[in-house]
Amino acid sequence: MQYSKIIKEPIEHFSVKPNLHDYHMMYRELNWDKISRDMDWFDSEHINIASVIIDSHLKTDRRDKKALIWENQKGEQEEYTFAELARLSNKFANILVSQLGIRKGDRVFFFLERVPEIYIGIIGTLKAGGVIGPLFSAFGPEAVKDRLIDSRAGVLVTSPALKKKISEIIPELPDLKNIITVQKGKDKADPGDISYEEAMAAASDSFDTVKTKKEDYAIMHYTSGTTGKPKGAVHVHGAVLGHYATAKYVLDLQPQDIYWCTADPGWVTGTSYGMFGPWSNGITQVVYDGAFSAKRWYSFIERRKVTVWYTAPTAIRMLMKAGDDLPGQYNLKSLRYTCSVGEPLNPEAVVWGKKVFDKPFHDNWWQTETGAIMIANYPVQDIKPGSMGRPFPGIRAGVLDDDFNELPHGKEGNLALRPGWPSMFRTYWEKEEMYQSKFKNGWYITGDKAKKDEEGYFWFVSRADDVINTAGHLVGPFEVESVLIEHPAVAEAGVIGKPDPIAMEVVKAFVSLKENCEPSEKLKHDIQKFVMKRLSSAAAPREIEFIASLPKTRSGKIMRRLLKAKELGQPLGDTSTLEED
Ligand code: ATP
Ligand code: MG
Repeated sequence: MQYSKIIKEPIEHFSVKPNLHDYHMMYRELNWDKISRDMDWFDSEHINIASVIIDSHLKTDRRDKKALIWENQKGEQEEYTFAELARLSNKFANILVSQLGIRKGDRVFFFLERVPEIYIGIIGTLKAGGVIGPLFSAFGPEAVKDRLIDSRAGVLVTSPALKKKISEIIPELPDLKNIITVQKGKDKADPGDISYEEAMAAASDSFDTVKTKKEDYAIMHYTSGTTGKPKGAVHVHGAVLGHYATAKYVLDLQPQDIYWCTADPGWVTGTSYGMFGPWSNGITQVVYDGAFSAKRWYSFIERRKVTVWYTAPTAIRMLMKAGDDLPGQYNLKSLRYTCSVGEPLNPEAVVWGKKVFDKPFHDNWWQTETGAIMIANYPVQDIKPGSMGRPFPGIRAGVLDDDFNELPHGKEGNLALRPGWPSMFRTYWEKEEMYQSKFKNGWYITGDKAKKDEEGYFWFVSRADDVINTAGHLVGPFEVESVLIEHPAVAEAGVIGKPDPIAMEVVKAFVSLKENCEPSEKLKHDIQKFVMKRLSSAAAPREIEFIASLPKTRSGKIMRRLLKAKELGQPLGDTSTLEED
């Protein structure tokens, strides 16, 4: 994709104006050894994520600094300092260890709304040496069952409402021994369950954090299941080094920041950058527990004076759909730095951010498996809209052919990383063979297709499974989708390859229109011409179908696999992570 427009990164978002040369030198000199030497909490052998992110601040002036400012849609608010989170998580760790007999490596899963107790519980479990497994609260019973059976979790932390939702599957979980319910003032816990509030009131608030080693398992995250059945990626305590460094140097977190990560704690972004990254840097973060609405989001940024905002393309596209005038009705001047992850970020969205917030979105790329940001648009780096940026210092990324040899720049191929970074997954839970199959010729194969330009910027092409081969031309659906949403009538688009007897595949687009736009044959032609002019006739959708909204995973990603299955009348496969209307 050729976008000639480069956004020269303005540096006014820095409170202290950096010397650009120093900044570039700093990135050039960064490496994992240097980062770990910078950290006094990183002894050569032992590390516990919870100590790093919370207890390490207790002997500093951040002790009474606000760590978590939470509010929900009803307007209820709670605030916690680092010292309070330390005390409460000690209590939770005591419940697990003294009352429930949790030992190092035992799995404790969280099926809980975005409430402060999920943060306290996760920190407490890590202190106790347990392995956390967060589950997105919008999951249905089957999705929860699959994950609890697969992980053999012994403890589930949930709420009365969510427990009710999955009540039918609870008898089918042979390994689940204890359920802790966060009552939040509602009734008593069910017989046999533990009330979080009662147990916390009785527990001691001092706890000796279990001595975990760098390589001890800490986190299990099931992938979003965009291309197949979700798998449990396992991460270790030493991963926090990666969370810390990338939060500091990619999200540009600085002591005075008010940081908002919109991802749910049920997804890897919600832990790596909704807990570990910001708190290891001692940053105050704000959390909004409520349904999406553009007005509520803008109002939250205004009221909380958010400075750094980390969100996702699907949310940005929804904000774009809500109109360019809306942001002007709020005071959003506090924002100084905005980032995006999770799906390809259409260049249109980057430019839109610059237009309405005067801040371009900084796209970055990573996966559940990589545990932390791998490729990014850093501060002070010019942004090429549509590019994911450059590899983080200490990360080597390459584009490989199908024999896993590196390709020169300009060529599309398999995006791969040299293994060995701290937050890399260590296995797929009890699927070691599948894990091993991801490593070829000394590289970790990410399953994405990309290309690199002559300046070292990486450009996402597609997920390997999504590439379209039309009459010998390889077309990445994202490229076509990005052009489609530049069309004034188009709100969102999903593009697939539809089998064709002559061309092998043809490009088919599913398009949802902006409010006030009516579907018509004329509009279809107009859209086809629009893409043809900008890309090529091969990439222009042969077929366009207007639909009200696109199927997405619960983490908000367009599910092309499902569009394709529907188109072909095939079984839909695993849909446990599919968003419900
Ligand atoms: P599964 O592996 O089960 O199919 P998933 O890949 O959607 O699910 P995640 O680990 O949540 O699970 O997502 C990582 C993937 O999301 C990446 O491999 C890539 O395809 C996509 N992605 C993330 N960030 C970006 C980005 N900035 N640009 C393009 N794609 C991105
Ligand atoms: Mg994946």
